[in-house]
Amino acid sequence: MIIPTIAYYGQSDGENSLSGGEKRDSMYAPIQSVKVFERVAAQIEKRILDGELRIGDRLPTERALAEQFHVSRTAVREAMKILAQKGLVDMRPGRGTIVVDGAREAMENSIGLLMKMKSGEVGSSDDLVEVRAILETEIAALAAARATEIEIAAMREAIRVMDESLDDADAFITADNSFHEALAQATQNALILTLLNSIVHLLSEQRKQIFEVDGGPQRGQMHHRRILECVIRRDPASARAAMGAHLLQVREDVSAGAG
Ligand SMILES: [Zn+2]
Repeated sequence: MIIPTIAYYGQSDGENSLSGGEKRDSMYAPIQSVKVFERVAAQIEKRILDGELRIGDRLPTERALAEQFHVSRTAVREAMKILAQKGLVDMRPGRGTIVVDGAREAMENSIGLLMKMKSGEVGSSDDLVEVRAILETEIAALAAARATEIEIAAMREAIRVMDESLDDADAFITADNSFHEALAQATQNALILTLLNSIVHLLSEQRKQIFEVDGGPQRGQMHHRRILECVIRRDPASARAAMGAHLLQVREDVSAGAG
């Protein structure tokens, strides 16, 4: 079918006018609607970044948001698409729109991929060990200064699970990750936690090698206990040293596993 374009001049440009993928000569309406839904998206984004809306929170319905913002439901829908593309919300059929941490996930994937490309075989990578040494010694020191009872309890629990999982590699490594994540959490610095999480699955591969080494998990646990003691004593310098010793042990066990 041939559409005579000139016949559309002067027709009202409704919300559905662009749905066919055609560009029209509508001079004002699209510009205004872009501004409206972008402003809706920006307001919701700010509430997420300010922490007023948290991961897992469900946003009000499209209708409720349209009423609150005094905009059309189409504008709300478009705003949600922007937020979803940024990885801030997830639109789940039947469950509504949920605030998610997709930005962090994207960063984790990017850093993980970058490290894989740079270092080839990640498990025995010197780069990875160096990053851990820089990041985690200071994490331990900050954790000793800032940890709350919540993170200390999480570290204790992780050590308990590792004790019970000395012959279960996957369970041990998951708990090992939890221990190091609780330390990062204890810094009370969200960016540090994100950085650590972004290399955590790479650390898992490294930990798998250590688990294979005779006595590796037991040695690791000795260091975990020492780190926790320093955190409980509120002793940043000792916590930093204890983490340094743990990572030295990791390095030695990794090279023993590789050899
Ligand atoms: Zn460890």
